[in-house]
Amino acid sequence: MEQIQKVLIANRGEIALRIHRACRELGLRTVAVFSAADREQKHVLLADETVCIGPPQATRSYLNMPSIIAAAEVTGADAIHPGFGFLSENADFAESVTRSGFIFIGPRADTIALMGDKTAAKRAMSEAGVPCVPGSDGALGDDPAEWREIAEGIGYPVLVKAAAGGGGRGMHVVHRPADLADAIGLARQEAATAFGNPAVFLEKYLTRPRHIEIQVLCDEHGHAIHLGERDCSLQRRHQKVVEESPAPGLPADQRAEIGALCVRACQQIGYVGAGTFEFLYEDGQFYFIEMNTRIQVEHPVTEAVTGVDLVRAQIEIADGQPLRLRQEQLRWEGHAIECRINAEDPFRFTPSPGEITSFHAPGGPGVRIDSHVYRGYQIPPHYDSMIGKLIVHGRNREIALARMRGALEELVLEGVKTNVPLHLRILADPAFQQGGVSIHHLEQRLNEWRDDH
Ligand code: ADP
Repeated sequence: MEQIQKVLIANRGEIALRIHRACRELGLRTVAVFSAADREQKHVLLADETVCIGPPQATRSYLNMPSIIAAAEVTGADAIHPGFGFLSENADFAESVTRSGFIFIGPRADTIALMGDKTAAKRAMSEAGVPCVPGSDGALGDDPAEWREIAEGIGYPVLVKAAAGGGGRGMHVVHRPADLADAIGLARQEAATAFGNPAVFLEKYLTRPRHIEIQVLCDEHGHAIHLGERDCSLQRRHQKVVEESPAPGLPADQRAEIGALCVRACQQIGYVGAGTFEFLYEDGQFYFIEMNTRIQVEHPVTEAVTGVDLVRAQIEIADGQPLRLRQEQLRWEGHAIECRINAEDPFRFTPSPGEITSFHAPGGPGVRIDSHVYRGYQIPPHYDSMIGKLIVHGRNREIALARMRGALEELVLEGVKTNVPLHLRILADPAFQQGGVSIHHLEQRLNEWRDDH
């Protein structure tokens, strides 16, 4: 490494451990910052240096910018990796990190700000030739007559979305003109409270799309590549539950075509780092919805099929190194599936924090588990319920599915409730086995299954 010797990991849980592992492999030292609830986290126990940055509440610890930057100063870290969630897509944080003399492992602050506004992001992408979901040209003004005209032009059903939205929150489907003004009013209030920005816009509501996203890597020297797609259509409340790569049935030439458009868009906006273009895919067409300017939860399925270590690549790019990999060298091999393991009731989804009394990880060929938990670990109630990810890779989808079933059956995780039973049920669903279900499929199945549990 040229500039980076010591990395501060500004996150928790499995992604913090994932970053620690990448740093270790690169011979870098790590600094773990943690809240008072997270002293016993695996990466905290493994890091070279640790700093407590505040009480359990995320607003006072993992979202506390001055505290994190102070920790980088006292430990002499060179770079800060934000992981996902928390401050990872906060342009002000990226800016403060760089202004304080540290390297931010992620895109430039102005790129994060651009993509953080979904209307600006769509405009930039549409100018770069990326196909977008039809919708209003930017945020809505204050004239209800104009709203009706725009919605009429798009065609019902329409979706009201927050420009600054995230985490699947603040979206409202509107089926008829009479409901439009109320939905916009409500969405504005929600957006102001949740995201500190009341701007909303309209989009065509697609009734049976798949969610397919494209992973990119771009260096500081203008070289960009795409690493193919992930199908993340299995969602509950717009939150991903199972992800896979490749997307079942997506023709290779279409992957190459949309991938090339994403690469060109990255070059046009001077994107640097790892990023994901999220698309809805319906009737064989891609429609851009947003770009994530960070590593994603589901990145391991891409790592499995391409053999590229994305977190390592992020660090090398931040260090100023040129991407060694050329697009034509990339090969996609086999099929990978990821199940997010959450500590929650599998069919009611109520969180289930507490002590893990027993833990045995599955293994064998093509099985990877990314998790920070161990026997005796206490899952704190303050953060989200994801406690790990199980990723399998096989020669084809059928083998991957069988491998996932075996791995889920082998996994022992006791003391708290987990969603493993839900994953087993999903794997047994003929429509999922066939592949290519829409983003509404899981919710429909959950309605049917609810009566059984
Ligand atoms: P967030 O940033 O909150 O995650 P996204 O724009 O990425 O919001 O959308 C999240 C999910 O919401 C998508 O994966 C999809 O399931 C659904 N969604 C978003 N836009 C549309 C749309 N125009 N039509 C139908 N579903 C949509």
